Amino acid sequence: MLAAVPGELFIAGRWLPAAAGARFPVLDPATGETLCEVADGGREDALDALTAAHEAQPAWQATAPRERGEILRRAYQLLVDRTDELALLMTLEMGKPLAEAAGEIAYAAEFFRWFAEEAVRIDGGYATAPDGASRFLVLRQPVGPCVLVTPWNFPMAMGTRKIGPAIAAGCTMVLKPAEQTPLCALALADILAEAGLPDGVLNVVTTSRPGEVVEPMLRDGRARKLSFTGSTQVGRLLLAQAAEKVLRTSMELGGNAPFLVFDDADLDAAVDGAMAAKMRNIGEACTAANRFLVQRGVADEFARRLAERMAALTMGRGTEPGVTVGPLIDADGRDKVTELVAEAVAGGARVLTGGAPVDGPGTFYPATVLTGVPAGARIGREEIFGPVAAISAFDTEDEAVAAANDTEYGLVSYVYTRDLARSLRVAERLEAGMIGLNKGVVSNPAAPFGGVKQSGLGREGGRVGIDEFLETKYVAIPTP
Ligand code: NAP
Repeated sequence: MLAAVPGELFIAGRWLPAAAGARFPVLDPATGETLCEVADGGREDALDALTAAHEAQPAWQATAPRERGEILRRAYQLLVDRTDELALLMTLEMGKPLAEAAGEIAYAAEFFRWFAEEAVRIDGGYATAPDGASRFLVLRQPVGPCVLVTPWNFPMAMGTRKIGPAIAAGCTMVLKPAEQTPLCALALADILAEAGLPDGVLNVVTTSRPGEVVEPMLRDGRARKLSFTGSTQVGRLLLAQAAEKVLRTSMELGGNAPFLVFDDADLDAAVDGAMAAKMRNIGEACTAANRFLVQRGVADEFARRLAERMAALTMGRGTEPGVTVGPLIDADGRDKVTELVAEAVAGGARVLTGGAPVDGPGTFYPATVLTGVPAGARIGREEIFGPVAAISAFDTEDEAVAAANDTEYGLVSYVYTRDLARSLRVAERLEAGMIGLNKGVVSNPAAPFGGVKQSGLGREGGRVGIDEFLETKYVAIPTP
């Protein structure tokens, strides 16, 4: 399985070692053991990859939209056909349980199917100027070579969500995947080559030194766009670097999702939704419910039911049958969760289940429920990125909305209520790019995904996803 993935850089259609010959280990977070090694690219490799993308751009943008769509469609099918082996690869390097990994392959593949269909729907316009003296012709053209930077938590889907629209729009690209999960990205490059993607359109540079690879490409002048998914902290840094050459940017950054449950909610549905919003991806999702705000009348009952469900989950290596909570990605991730919980408990929060890391190999933290989380606690201000549900109670709708919006993030908010007027009122007042209304999962390739405030810029997926990879050109014509 691992041997089938080329552990080299993918540049101009060729698998190459890093120029300096360096390699870095890929670890299994369930055991801490090395799975394999891959090429450790540096500045020279990054610029070679950018050269390949730049040289491939003119021919690629001249291909027929249908041809680009057909490549995506074939790649979609290959992903679906190879779900089992790709899911295993993902579980090995990232840790999520196999069933969730298979779910991510399906989700990732859907971006290719969606953008295969969008490639042939890039439109333009023809209009008469208001004074009738001229005509406007409006064209949509690819922005040009893109730098794509992806995180480890959804190692396949965060790639296809960028690569899909870039291919559909006619852009070439260099992908830099996360250090912890290079194998999914390399497998994806292999699949796209098999699907007929011409050499140089997609280049992949794996590295353990992300700054050395990304910054030279952003400052080079030949890249025309940066599409980044990751933390707000790194996003800010890359926005500053992208400013020098005034690059187009799409930034999918961190979140701090509030999960609001009102007294009138269907509590069974709210607990189901909470399990999905909290435990998808072991809590390591930008969309993960980070703050449970529950109206006082149902707060104790909601916490009791949620704790019962969380305590029934099975923690273990993601490859084992029946496991629903895999390891966290690494020791830093686990230590951060440990600290946040300890601080909340020291501040007065009560542990209903879980609450302490597990000794032994692998970076495991059990499903945890805390109640009475004090206002202002760090666990409510920072992304937990782990399987911890932190619950606080509220009294009024105004108080709930104010607390929900009291964050620099604005990716997604969840609301559970059966009152239609309240649903719409609260959905309008919440400062978030996405709202889960009586629904614990919002991600869908056919919907515009993205955040407001410091959760990002731009949208991925949906009808607007391709716009991020297109420029608008207007041609002025005299009235015939
Ligand atoms: P991260 O530390 O920001 O890393 C994201 C990517 O940026 C990785 O490829 C990383 O490479 C790279 N990177 C790190 N430092 C860099 C630098 N100085 N220059 C250039 N690139 C650099 O985030 P993460 O821990 O991988 O992912 C978790 C974060 O992603 C969370 O905040 C989560 O909310 C966010 N996220 C957002 C979305 C969304 O759609 N809004 C989706 C998924 C995840 P290395 O791996 O080598 O460090």
